[in-house]
Amino acid sequence: MAKCIHCGDDESVEIHEVYGYRDFLLDTCCESFHKDVVDFLNKDPKTAAKWLMGLSDGILLQMQQPKLRRVIDDGLGSLMLDWNLTLVPVEQRTAKEFVKRHHRHCPPPAGWRFGAGVSNGNGNLIGVIMVGRPVARTLNQNEILEVNRLCVRDDIPQGLVWNACSLLYGWASKQARQRGFKKIITYVLESESGTTLRAAGWVPELKTSGGSWNRKTRQRVDKTTTQPKIRWTAPWCQDQFTLQPENLGATA
Ligand SMILES: [Zn+2]
Repeated sequence: MAKCIHCGDDESVEIHEVYGYRDFLLDTCCESFHKDVVDFLNKDPKTAAKWLMGLSDGILLQMQQPKLRRVIDDGLGSLMLDWNLTLVPVEQRTAKEFVKRHHRHCPPPAGWRFGAGVSNGNGNLIGVIMVGRPVARTLNQNEILEVNRLCVRDDIPQGLVWNACSLLYGWASKQARQRGFKKIITYVLESESGTTLRAAGWVPELKTSGGSWNRKTRQRVDKTTTQPKIRWTAPWCQDQFTLQPENLGATA
């Protein structure tokens, strides 16, 4: 066994304890080596996760969680466990409550055909997607689906929701196709990035002029609804438009 360069004892590190979903304590030969280990874990979160799984000697495996994805900074200087994301079924009511609590500028939509949630660690819901009929009445209500709302938590370290949006968009697209719909669409503000949609393989197809076509049943002051939006669609969909890159605005 190697000697610790700091204390001269046998170099040692093990997971002392894991509590809750994400917190863990490391036991090391000395403070300085502890710092070295934390630095190492910080440097490459993915490799760190693998190393931790090997080191943990079953502690992490016993937790009955999905595989450890990464070890991430919690934003307060501590490390936390970031589990592989899992798609989970959710009822409409659960999805609505989640959106009500976590969505910054939109109330939950009324319509619902299906939806899903995503969890980081068993039972720890971090996002939902709600799929329903197109809000615009001019679109075929039986053949086209719309992602009416996608919402992930923004009150937790953002490393935990990494990839959650694209996972949900990808799932919705697959479901729409399997259920025999001709098309699935969604709208994001022109000022918002389409990165997560693009990561799920979706393509931008249309720019709306903004305005009041998207009527709300609830009276509220909300400037975002009058901003131009970009309509995105999944690549397999029929009747696609082609949006010229110069019209893409902030999403380009
Ligand atoms: Zn030491």
